[in-house]
Amino acid sequence: MQTQSYGELKLFIDGEWIGTQGRTTEDVINPATGEPIGALPHATAEDLDRAVSAASRAFKTWRVTTAYDRAKIIRKAADILRERAAEIGRRMTLDQGKPIGEAVPEVHISADILDWTADEGRRTYGRVIPSRLPGARWFVTKEPVGPVAGFTPWNFPGVIPARKISAALATGCTMVIKPSEETPSTVLEIARALQDAGLPNGVLNVVHGKPAEVSEHLIASDGIRKITFTGSTNVGKQLAVLAAQAGVKRATMELGGHAPVLIFEDADIDHAIRVMVHAKYRNAGQVCISPTRFYVHDSVHDRFVDGFAKAAAALKVGDGLDPEKQMGPLANSRRVPSMERMVADAVSRGAKIATGGERGSNRGYFFQPTVLADVPQDAIIMNEEPFGPVAVTARFSSFEEVIGEANRLPYGLASYAFTQSAKTAAMVSDAIEAGMVGINNNAISMTETPFGGVKQSGYGSEGGSEGMEAYLVTKFTSQS
Ligand code: NAD
Repeated sequence: MQTQSYGELKLFIDGEWIGTQGRTTEDVINPATGEPIGALPHATAEDLDRAVSAASRAFKTWRVTTAYDRAKIIRKAADILRERAAEIGRRMTLDQGKPIGEAVPEVHISADILDWTADEGRRTYGRVIPSRLPGARWFVTKEPVGPVAGFTPWNFPGVIPARKISAALATGCTMVIKPSEETPSTVLEIARALQDAGLPNGVLNVVHGKPAEVSEHLIASDGIRKITFTGSTNVGKQLAVLAAQAGVKRATMELGGHAPVLIFEDADIDHAIRVMVHAKYRNAGQVCISPTRFYVHDSVHDRFVDGFAKAAAALKVGDGLDPEKQMGPLANSRRVPSMERMVADAVSRGAKIATGGERGSNRGYFFQPTVLADVPQDAIIMNEEPFGPVAVTARFSSFEEVIGEANRLPYGLASYAFTQSAKTAAMVSDAIEAGMVGINNNAISMTETPFGGVKQSGYGSEGGSEGMEAYLVTKFTSQS
């Protein structure tokens, strides 16, 4: 295993890297050991104001920089990220916990997002409308919304900020971003790559601090025109209220999910197990599109649970810096008791533990890959997002019954189905209330495809051409 040097954490405001210098700091913890690895400086109110003024000032010139020139800088940053991926990924494993075999690829995916989105910024086309006013020209143009405040969580410290930063910058917006205080290293490296690629000062600013204090301050700032948040539905609701109160500010909300997986009787069960074990335990299940509620046709339920539990139990769990490990610790100390509470509740209501169900180790925040079978509908885990390495199963016998169950919760982010019938696949795709549907695969979060939810999973898409809309306003001009 490699050494554990983590590097110094800073604020990045108006092109300047600002260290502790008398500011309050917060320990960043390695979740594999529970030990501190770095000290994160919190922004003062003056720092936040400075970041907003820098973003406002820089917006004046960045918005009129051509999309072609903006794309050149962002694409150069993508190349720099690729060159530095091994080191950035190692630090991501240190603060987030995910295996190095997931962290380094996440840096490459972040670079790919920067590349693709930079070019998509060159295609923010307008429209010409045939005028009913003789001699007039009617046209629609797209303009950047303005300085954006972004708030990102701890589960994907590279990909989630990369989506927000790239779409904002490619469309001509500037940004003040607050990464998770628990996993701050990757965003700082994205900012460094952009600076090294020639990004003008103030276009991107990175601040840290107590989440509620920073978000309240930034959202209320006059200079901020839009907010974008990824995190829990509860926090999303609070921020949406703040955005409305602060002046009906635009908002994109990527919130929680509780993805159903429908395994029909004609599914290729071995394929479903292979795909879903990987999808479930990736990042120890701390993924908003993680497959969680497995509704399995009664005729194949036991075979599916048996195979799934065996594959889950065979995963190598441990410190993510060890390249052999397939699942690391949970990202913070809050997740382990949360898993224990949900497992105990389900078992007390009659669920059976097919594998796992316990902490993995006394050191660090580990929890075993877990499968709970025959979980009743009223169990907490059937209703609240576990956000951890626990899969739960229940049986069904009819299409109507399983769609009713899949759509029962107030969330609608990801959903999955396995069937060899094109008719069933089409019926699922039509009937399911979700922003994304994976049928016989889990490829639902790609650079060029829209990512977003319905119901309380939020609104607005990220990724794909749809992701650019969030950062653009529409202007209609009627010219005689
Ligand atoms: P949480 O809801 O307090 O925090 C989630 C994230 O939001 C953190 O990164 C945090 O820094 C940020 N946050 C919290 N309050 C904020 C505020 N007032 N303003 C701005 N940002 C704020 O709880 P948690 O314990 O970190 O996670 C619990 C749950 O959050 C999980 O069970 C999961 O449901 C959800 N979550 C979702 C995602 C996602 O990708 N959608 C990511 C992380 C967490």
